Amino acid sequence: MVRNARAAGAAAAIVYTDAKDFGGAGAKGKRKWFPDARWLPPTGVQVGTLYYGNGDPTTPLWPSCAAGEDCERLSQGELDGSAAMPSIPALPVSARDGETILKAMGGDAAPTEWQGGEGAPMYRLGPGPAVLNLTYIGNDTLATIENVFAVIEGKEEPDRYVIIGNHRDAWTFGAVDPNSGTAAMLEIAERLSKLEKKGWRPRRTIIVCSWDAEEFALIGSTEWVEDNMDMLASRAIAYLNVDITVFGPGGFRPRATPQLDQLIKEASKMVQDPDDPSQTLYDTMIRHHPPIDRVAGAGTDFAAFLQYIGVPSLDMSYGTMASVWGLIALRLADDEILPLNYVSYASELEKCTKLVEGGCTGCPVSFAPLHKSIDQLRKAANKIHKEKMRDLNLSMSNPNFKSQVKERTRSRGSTQGGCDRQARTVAFGSDDRRACTMVATDGWMLAAADGS
Ligand SMILES: [Zn+2]
Repeated sequence: MVRNARAAGAAAAIVYTDAKDFGGAGAKGKRKWFPDARWLPPTGVQVGTLYYGNGDPTTPLWPSCAAGEDCERLSQGELDGSAAMPSIPALPVSARDGETILKAMGGDAAPTEWQGGEGAPMYRLGPGPAVLNLTYIGNDTLATIENVFAVIEGKEEPDRYVIIGNHRDAWTFGAVDPNSGTAAMLEIAERLSKLEKKGWRPRRTIIVCSWDAEEFALIGSTEWVEDNMDMLASRAIAYLNVDITVFGPGGFRPRATPQLDQLIKEASKMVQDPDDPSQTLYDTMIRHHPPIDRVAGAGTDFAAFLQYIGVPSLDMSYGTMASVWGLIALRLADDEILPLNYVSYASELEKCTKLVEGGCTGCPVSFAPLHKSIDQLRKAANKIHKEKMRDLNLSMSNPNFKSQVKERTRSRGSTQGGCDRQARTVAFGSDDRRACTMVATDGWMLAAADGS
């Protein structure tokens, strides 16, 4: 937006969120804002970053360092000339102030889709006759940010990482974004600590990350990924992000890369819906179409993991997030066979290819190689899935299965393979009792299948 303004020769920009888009679309008298509804009131000011990129703007695509330390950075001149920087001052104002300014403008009427809601003044394109004075005092400070990490080293595959993340900085007070997510992450950390005290160690390493400077363009997570790119590309199994948990209405709406779909479905079946205890999170999720959205864009900290190094990623928002978030992390950290399912990935790729193909009718481009590759992926994914199911069924139909499980549990200790039923039940609370039992049983099945 501000980039376009700069390109059009603007000296500065005033940015606001129209009331129409935040609870102001209804007929007069029916519009509701906070504190009567969840919408931003017309006096509220929405803020956000205007940097058209991710990470530290002075170190695009390479790791940054603390202020005062020596690392390569773009100069001020290079930054000013960068297409990614707004390079003109911009001030966010409220919808009420925005409308007041627009009332003072003349010229041609703006296009219909640019106009405000019912009762709003006619928006005009100017220029003038009003003159707006904008004073900008900026000091271009270089500041040091801090990510915080907690690591539980895996017992059997310590060089495989399951990464949980949430940011810690906020534009203002951050009650919802990110503190509601941070509360859930701290709860998971506490439960994992309880498990550890009972002697549990995950099969794979779990890394809990509290990112800094997310609001300024995902700086903390992006710089960490840039700094550890090779290591993470070979070792990270999944990145599980939660930014906001208190969000709604609308129920549980996860978004993920497709190989995590199955795991999300399984974990969400294990957690009660806080709004309706007669159903699970899965029941609320499948009412949406699609039930699981795709992670796209760069709205939060999964971006660098997914877009720079292709780590399977998810992002969720809703109450009881600690339960479903923790269960997914534990399955990824503890299942002997990774709970990733690539059958849905192949279907998703096919769907997206058809979409691109549809928009490209008559183009001198062949999609045949793409379809062929996707077909190969589907065949490989189906083969692995069938083998996994066959092993599971074999284990279940084997009369010695129970004794094998017992034997294996005894020989490997009760905390192996993420199957410490009691410990998990304690750690994930009574509402997760069924979940813990089922996760543990599943883990045992895989353990038996693998061992026999
Ligand atoms: Zn956030």
